[in-house]
Amino acid sequence: MEIDDEILTEFYDNRYAVQGMLIYKKNALLVVREIQKILEEKLEKAGHEPVLFPVLIPEDILKKESEHIKGFETEVFWVTEAGNNKLDKKLALRPTSETPIYTMFSLWIRSHRDLPMKVHQTCAVYRYETKQTRPLIRGREFLWNEGHSAFKNSEDAEKNVEDIIKIYGDLLNELCIPYRIHRRPEWDKFPGASYTLAYDTIIDGKILQIATIHNLSEKFSEAFDIKYEDEEGNHKFVHLTCYGPSFGRLLASVLNIHKDDAGLKFPAKFAPVQIVIVPIFAKGNKEGVIDYCRKIKEKSDKFRVVLDESDKTPGEKFYYWEKRGAMLRIEAGPRDLENNEVVVVRRDTKKKEKIKIAELTDEKIAEIFKDIDKNLRESADRKFNGAIFKANTIEEAKAQIGKGIIEIGLCKDEKCKNEIETYASVLGTEEKKEKCIVCGKEGKVAYIGKTY
Ligand SMILES: [Zn+2]
Repeated sequence: MEIDDEILTEFYDNRYAVQGMLIYKKNALLVVREIQKILEEKLEKAGHEPVLFPVLIPEDILKKESEHIKGFETEVFWVTEAGNNKLDKKLALRPTSETPIYTMFSLWIRSHRDLPMKVHQTCAVYRYETKQTRPLIRGREFLWNEGHSAFKNSEDAEKNVEDIIKIYGDLLNELCIPYRIHRRPEWDKFPGASYTLAYDTIIDGKILQIATIHNLSEKFSEAFDIKYEDEEGNHKFVHLTCYGPSFGRLLASVLNIHKDDAGLKFPAKFAPVQIVIVPIFAKGNKEGVIDYCRKIKEKSDKFRVVLDESDKTPGEKFYYWEKRGAMLRIEAGPRDLENNEVVVVRRDTKKKEKIKIAELTDEKIAEIFKDIDKNLRESADRKFNGAIFKANTIEEAKAQIGKGIIEIGLCKDEKCKNEIETYASVLGTEEKKEKCIVCGKEGKVAYIGKTY
């Protein structure tokens, strides 16, 4: 079920004069800011310092690590003129920030006492996408958070990868987004990395990469000459790791994974409107009911709450706010006013409950929200797990393409990989033996699917 355009225009506008560059509107930013807040707090608690680097990168710095630039070359936006002058040195709009950040790491890191050094920044990055752009999912400008950290040795770097897996896992758990972590095959890893772990979720049968973690080992520190002096006075290269989730893709996941036939649903913390209050009028006592509803609104001001005082009928209001994913509806009419009660309706189960106004506390609401999240998480997990398949033959695999993640056997032969990649992407491989579904020879377990 597609999300109505009318609803999407409350999140973004895609009609800007530069193709692939999106205007984020209020509802999108409410979700994104919540994601950003949670993530930044977790990263900083784990020792990352916030930084904000300039958007421009001089050409020679961007090109310092050869594999890296090869991977991004065709996607870079270049600034070649300033005012009336042609620049001597072209400047790139950052496609990602390894190169500027590691240039500074080489100045900031001197001794083992400077390590670990961990920084993160929330920013926009720019990539000249030649594939069809798609709002929130594939843009030429996109919002993300990128973390970069330097360590004394590979053990510390590996330990940091584990820490980030935990942090991203906690964030995705709060968003109720199911995912799998795939170790990307050699030909699809981040340019310059020794390995890439990617977070894949499933939207309408297709695979969406929502975050990545890269272990860069010593490649970038050699290119950028990032050395430290150890306890014995030896000079050594640092080990680098970098990682980032895309905020646009996380938002796209939240919108598309939790929706149902009635419209959007959100984990309660992320709902642009968490509570809607709908007054139910009868003849003659409009003032009293409105007054009662205003008091409820004031009482619940810890949440994002709207009192719908418009002229629409209650039924129209229910429909309007269900579509927009207001996760809790509070109805109050004359009889409720008399009995000091309200009717509370959950967006996920549509279950109605009468509650005494004195019992409608922040704690009670938080408790309902917690249960809504649990319910959303369970139903998203069920859907996700129902989109994981195993195929023993190429025909079986083909029948499931576009429906989710398919486990197959694949050998090392380039021909077999190319055959698979004509209709699906290899998301990851595992060190587990399995017969290749293309040629029948011995291979390894691989996961494939159609990607966005
Ligand atoms: Zn094969």
